Amino acid sequence: MTVDINIKLQNLEIGWIRDLRIGGLLSGIYNPQKNVLDTVEEVHKILNANEYTPESSYIPVLLPAYPDENSVYTIDESLIAESLFRSNNKYIGHRNFMAFGNRFLNAMPSITKRAQAIRTHNDNVRKFVSALKSAGTTVCAFQTRNIPHNGHIKIIHHLLEICDHVIINPVVGIKKPGDTLMTVLEESYQYVIDNILPNSNLYYMPVFSDMYYAGPKEAAHHALIRQNLGFTHFSVGRDHAGAENLFPPEAAVNFMTEIKSSLHIKVFTIPGAYYCTSCNEVTILDCCEEYRQSISKQNISGTECRKAITNGTPYKHLDEGLISHLVNNFKKDLFES
Ligand SMILES: [Zn+2]
Repeated sequence: MTVDINIKLQNLEIGWIRDLRIGGLLSGIYNPQKNVLDTVEEVHKILNANEYTPESSYIPVLLPAYPDENSVYTIDESLIAESLFRSNNKYIGHRNFMAFGNRFLNAMPSITKRAQAIRTHNDNVRKFVSALKSAGTTVCAFQTRNIPHNGHIKIIHHLLEICDHVIINPVVGIKKPGDTLMTVLEESYQYVIDNILPNSNLYYMPVFSDMYYAGPKEAAHHALIRQNLGFTHFSVGRDHAGAENLFPPEAAVNFMTEIKSSLHIKVFTIPGAYYCTSCNEVTILDCCEEYRQSISKQNISGTECRKAITNGTPYKHLDEGLISHLVNNFKKDLFES
């Protein structure tokens, strides 16, 4: 059975969410959570945690219940808002989390073919990583939600210098409006691999798991998923898994620095890529004195990228070839509406 990986927002549908999470649990990507959490206390314990060990989860993976199911519990909604999102119930992450009501299953339901297919896909990612690693090499995962600008390309180039293999490894699940469509994301990175960073050690392979837009805790959750898939390295960047400008851009990097000793995967924290107007190049390191003093440090704006891509106008931090390739292939249909 083939699974349509192009899950649009319009498909924010309870059956999909459940299959996605069940497939993920069965494939072991959420270890140490291996099954449905059977009591609300277990859920609250994860949410309330202040210290982390290798046995910690960062986001509880819950299965919303259908109206006719009775083996359920209710969670403390304000705890979700505060501990996961440091926000309130208006935030997109919170609204998605509670989208099907405050009723969550306390036992694994019957498993659909779609959930099985999702498990198989994730298992195949693990096998692929494991095959690359068999010679004792390092394999790094790069999480992404965006059409890459020159800063992203610089980061991937940097990762290829430090690790033997780099897999562009976006999480694939239900998205929010404005997110890049999966087909577009795949085509973008295929273009990067074929034309910008041709390298036989660079791959594109997504993993099935949903986005929570939970910023710092989600960065840790993402690292855990990659650890469970067998990756040796993972990179966390500026505003990792944030939305609506809720989290300070450096929050995820700071949180990872704090907890990374509890993980068995090596985490690179890259505070961001900028353009240096003295060196006339994109950099992720302190390239010169002017840059160190922030005189020549120019931000690469995601909003400007979006505008340029949507209007087909040039922006100096985007690869022109990539953008015209996307516009030729997809016209203007690039983002979730
Ligand atoms: Zn410089």
